[in-house]
Amino acid sequence: MDTKKNIKTLDKRELSAYFKQLNEPAYRAEQVWDWLWNKQAESFDEMTNLPKSLREKLEEHFDIPKARLHLTRQSSDGTIKNAVELPDNLIVESVIIPEKKRATACISSQVGCSLNCLFCATGRLKRMRNLTASEIVDQVVQAREQSLTYYGYPLTNIVFMGMGEPLLNYENVKEAIEIITSEKGLGMSPKRITLSTAGIPERIKQLALDLPKINLAVSLHSAIDEVRTRIMPSNKAYGGLDALLESLQFWYKKTKSKITFEYLVFKDINDDDRSIRALVKFASKIPSKVNLIQYNPTDSFDRFAQADDEVLEAYRQALKEKGIIATVRRSRGQDIEAACGQLAAKYEDVKIKIEHKPISLSQIKNRQ
Ligand code: SAH
Repeated sequence: MDTKKNIKTLDKRELSAYFKQLNEPAYRAEQVWDWLWNKQAESFDEMTNLPKSLREKLEEHFDIPKARLHLTRQSSDGTIKNAVELPDNLIVESVIIPEKKRATACISSQVGCSLNCLFCATGRLKRMRNLTASEIVDQVVQAREQSLTYYGYPLTNIVFMGMGEPLLNYENVKEAIEIITSEKGLGMSPKRITLSTAGIPERIKQLALDLPKINLAVSLHSAIDEVRTRIMPSNKAYGGLDALLESLQFWYKKTKSKITFEYLVFKDINDDDRSIRALVKFASKIPSKVNLIQYNPTDSFDRFAQADDEVLEAYRQALKEKGIIATVRRSRGQDIEAACGQLAAKYEDVKIKIEHKPISLSQIKNRQ
């Protein structure tokens, strides 16, 4: 059995403590950090500014596991979807979306998801485990290389909108963002990072204190408690819309940065006037903008349908009258199931240990 420890799970402080205990100079921690995160070394042999004996010692105790690309597919619109294989053979997906001189990586934070949003394909997978900070960073490193190769320009933005709920893997996501934004790490600006959450109020507050410079997006989908709970059962579990709003007001107070609400409009669920009025009222209470997202069908069991364009327009107008900007976001990469909510890691050719949650059709039907 492999008893070596993943060296990438050590933060700088732990690395320093390790070298101190070996009576090595303090700068060793800096050197190794630089190799691991800046130079993306895959073996201790590459770390040529360390004495050979130290490299051998590190080799004995640690390994440097890496997430690998298992499969890459490209959509007719240029969007790339990766199946990323983790060291224990589980698979997560990442997506890269090119726009004019801009490329956004959409990355995963968990294998599967513990929330059960009824409209989301990932929500139907069991949550298998959290990704480590290095597995999250590996997705960004891969996306950075792919952006240059496929589009000829660098990766500019990162969104945590892939598989999983980032705020339920708080510590690792936080550490990953620190590595991605640190000068010694990937050196990307926190302003280019957006974390999307189904809304975990306590963690939103913590995030405001820990990472105030990143952007926050909240998957709202309804501003009426009973409707939101019906399609996103976690709404009730986390204290409903009041608790969410309170945490967002805290976020704004600490960060002075507007919140983006992500909002799907479904036929017969939230395409009525009452829903529109509720959203306008809710969004007016906090500096925000609204992304009306196009619904992407997830599978043949699907009981959800995208509302008509006139309804989206009615939402947009009603928000505009209150001075709230709303944009309609068309989805990308649908032909390769790379669009929001379609990430479900269907790879029959690999032995992936993803278990599906039992999905009950009546659960969806009865609730509508
Ligand atoms: N758990 C996080 C991040 C993953 S979901 C969150 O809930 O925000 C990323 C975005 O995709 C969310 O806004 C989510 O509501 C949206 N989404 C989920 N299923 C979708 C679907 N079938 N079509 C379009 N968007 C979907």
